[in-house]
Amino acid sequence: MPCPVHVVTTEEFTLSAPLATQAGARELARGSLVRRGEGTCEGGVPVEVLSVAGWVAVPTPAAPGARGCLATEALAPVDTLVFVALANAPATAPASTSTSTSTSTSTSTSTATFTAGDILGVLRDEGRCDADRYTFSGGSVSAGVPVAALSAVRAVSPDVLAGVERVRAAYGDLFGGDLFGGDLSGGELFGNLGPIGLHEVPWTDWGYVGLPLPHPLDAAALAAEWAREGLDTPARREKATVAFGPVAFGPGASGPGTLGPASPPIYQHFLGADAPGSDTWGRPATIVRLLKLARGWWDHCVTLPGDPARCTLQIGDLAWYNAVRPDPLGHKDHADGACVDVRLFRTDPSRYEAWWNRPDDRTGAIAYDGARTLAFLAWAYANAPVTEAFFNDPDALAALPNLRPLRGHDDHVHLCLGDRPGDQP
Ligand SMILES: [Zn+2]
Repeated sequence: MPCPVHVVTTEEFTLSAPLATQAGARELARGSLVRRGEGTCEGGVPVEVLSVAGWVAVPTPAAPGARGCLATEALAPVDTLVFVALANAPATAPASTSTSTSTSTSTSTSTATFTAGDILGVLRDEGRCDADRYTFSGGSVSAGVPVAALSAVRAVSPDVLAGVERVRAAYGDLFGGDLFGGDLSGGELFGNLGPIGLHEVPWTDWGYVGLPLPHPLDAAALAAEWAREGLDTPARREKATVAFGPVAFGPGASGPGTLGPASPPIYQHFLGADAPGSDTWGRPATIVRLLKLARGWWDHCVTLPGDPARCTLQIGDLAWYNAVRPDPLGHKDHADGACVDVRLFRTDPSRYEAWWNRPDDRTGAIAYDGARTLAFLAWAYANAPVTEAFFNDPDALAALPNLRPLRGHDDHVHLCLGDRPGDQP
């Protein structure tokens, strides 16, 4: 009796499917992997959870290894999907019978059958109920992968994977090499940022790709960020940076991509009131355009007078995980995955919001750099496929005929990056 591997699917834009377990009701995010057991259970079939699609935040998520009852319609076949490693194979997994042929540069031990970012390929065997490992073909891992190690693996459709690959390649082209320019604290600002792996480009089952943020702030780094910015209340901390994109490094940093006192991120993400991980999604082409905009603006901005830390693109909302309407993030027009909100530029190197029409709520002083923000918008119009932009500063509106005012756009610019001839869809 076979116990085949399935991927969890849902109706249209629903994020997860309910899993009834002995420990209570759990939610399985769409895109999670399960192994179907024999027989039936009340309202569905018994399954064992192999991996959880952790990029999609759901309440009371199931954990790998959990067993429970899942509705039959939540099971979809995996035969056309490509399996990708999001983390190194757990070191506790049993040793494989043959060595990995992974070409990844990460270190691999005798017990690891893959490393983060590896493409395992398509699943070769359907799976027996007593199978303790699975084999794949077409990828970089030829040995059997222990069942427990599948907790580090996700399955993705070739279409979605193509978009992920495009974003990863663009990031490598834009930020994978040397970075020069600007002058910081009397020393040259430079960086060798390095490419990223597939596991650093999140995706959703609906084909949206996450803005790559290879430097998420852990609890200690977040506390340091709060201290740096003087964020002393929950309302202010909600506005804090939670992750950095590529990081330039200067005299104060210890090496490529590291965070030193003088290491401005080229772009960063602040969360606001949204659920963690829920607001950085977009169509692959949009993410590529945003990466190009961030790099191009950086190269231009560091030639302007002043601290390069004032060049960082502070990125807020992109889209929700998919195109559901109304957008749970509360926007009218982010759902299509083509628009992004960007903070105003400041007269100081702080990573905090600025308003064009009111002072900084921490100091009572004006922090808005209207000239720099206008320079950014002018640069974006001239160099990026901006199809729509909202911002309320009358000086910017007077200077840029395509810019439009819209209620609520006093502390950020709303930019949509659309198609131009030659752009990929
Ligand atoms: Zn917006």
